[in-house]
Amino acid sequence: MLVATPIGNLGDLSPRALAALRDADAVLCEDSRVTGGLLARQGIAATMIPLHEHNEAAQAPRLVERMAAGESFALVSDAGTPLVSDPGYRLVRAAIAAGIQVSAVPGPNAAVMALALSGLPPHPFLFLGFLPARSGPRAAELSRLRGIERAGLSATLVLYEAPHRLAEALAALAEALGPERPAAVARELTKRFEEVRRGSLGDLAAHYATAEARGEICILVGPAPEEAAAGAADIDAALRAALAGGM
Ligand code: SAM
Repeated sequence: MLVATPIGNLGDLSPRALAALRDADAVLCEDSRVTGGLLARQGIAATMIPLHEHNEAAQAPRLVERMAAGESFALVSDAGTPLVSDPGYRLVRAAIAAGIQVSAVPGPNAAVMALALSGLPPHPFLFLGFLPARSGPRAAELSRLRGIERAGLSATLVLYEAPHRLAEALAALAEALGPERPAAVARELTKRFEEVRRGSLGDLAAHYATAEARGEICILVGPAPEEAAAGAADIDAALRAALAGGM
């Protein structure tokens, strides 16, 4: 069972999530200190099994064997919905391949909440997760993205970013996609200092060039303006190039 947990506000832990955590034979978690704290606050004494990016490939077959033998696991990440820029995909894929039924307790997710609050068109949207941290690979990825947009993709973009990289990420986005693009920065969602700042990419880049950004952050960029209609072959070629590049 994939179990979503709060992204800041503990009141967002649903009754179904609590029941799933209580009923599981073990809780698969990214960081046992984080999940241990959550379980302790709820009075749940569950066995925890670490599952993170460094051990997931090795653990997945063993966990699938145990599920096939009848054990039930609840998979959580440190916050929000597992698999979304978090571990779990390899395990889910292995479980599906083994014919094991996978279900989920849906719940908090920063990307979707930020999208809903941004005031930007909610669909179609393209969730990009984190951009590469280094400027070269980040510029290359943004250039591939721009290629897809030129070929006709017109979607709101949703990204995660670390606070210390926000200013340079916004500057890189403004340079690659254009400073006039409408955008938003959603910070500390569901927490005391929740804030959504809306403006053009250029305005937001200028603001965060000097203002300190704290806490957890999503960046949203409105759809590319309609350009000359692209042919299906152009879109196909741009998508192939993007996929080859790992986007
Ligand atoms: N699985 C999580 C989810 O469902 O949202 C996301 C995990 S990802 C490792 C963590 C990133 O999500 C943070 O660096 C930030 O970009 C974003 N994030 C998480 N909580 C947030 C919050 N309360 N407000 C804004 N962004 C948040």
